[in-house]
Formats: sequence, structure tokens, C-alpha cells
Amino acid sequence: MTIILASLITVGVIAFILSVRAKDLPQPEPVSPFHHLDERKVAIYENLRDLQFEYRLGKLSDQDYQQTKLDLQRELAGVMADIDRVKAEIAAGKIPAPAPELVKAPTKAPATYICPSCKTEFDQPLKFCGECGKPMKAAQA
Ligand SMILES: [Zn+2]
Repeated sequence: MTIILASLITVGVIAFILSVRAKDLPQPEPVSPFHHLDERKVAIYENLRDLQFEYRLGKLSDQDYQQTKLDLQRELAGVMADIDRVKAEIAAGKIPAPAPELVKAPTKAPATYICPSCKTEFDQPLKFCGECGKPMKAAQA
């Protein structure tokens, strides 16, 4: 019996800590579905710039320069096509525009308020613990 009670309290405390932490943390910025594609695009542009720079310095042969440039341009075209595809899918409603996990309502556990002093659980917010009488500031929702 004691073990069951102890583990129940532990679970309650963990749930409480998690709920407090989730509340205190700022909401993460919704990540655009294009984010990783944009990053790739920027990386390819940078590579192209570096390539031109090295070519001008005479570090690359004509053939190497043309070949690498073609490869990068082909990769860039692929990324652009991916971005267009994602845009088309959003427009068609196939994928939701913001990150779906942000839109979905979080599954709410029944609220528990735990006295920080004696760890007694209450199902409603109290100013003072009904068990030990200590203030329950931390438990206010
Ligand atoms: Zn108490």
C-alpha cells in the first residue's frame, strides 16, 4: 500500500513538474515546411559563390569549374522544384501550413495541485494546503 501510494505521488510530482515546465517554456516558433529547403538553397548559393571565387583565383580548372557549377545548378533546380512542390501541396490542402503538432490541442491530464511542503494532492487550486496549512503558491495554475 505504501509503495503504491509513494509511486502515485511520484507520478503526480513528475506530472506537476512537466506541466509547470511546459507552461514556463516559450512556444517554439512554428517551423516552416520550407525551412530545410531554404537552408539547402542558401548552402548551394554559398557553394556557387565559393566556386566562382576559387575559379577566379585560378584554383580550379575550367573543366572542374564548369562541371561543379553544373552539379550545383542541377541541385539548386531540384531544391526549387521541391519548394514548388511543397507550396503546391499546401495550396491543395495536402499538408497543413504550420507544423501540425502545434495546431493539435495538447491532451490535457486532469489538473492536480500538489502542496510543495507535504506533497498532498488536490484537484483544485488552493491558496493554502488543506493538509498542512502551508501556502501553495507554486501550485496556482
Ligand atoms: Zn501541505
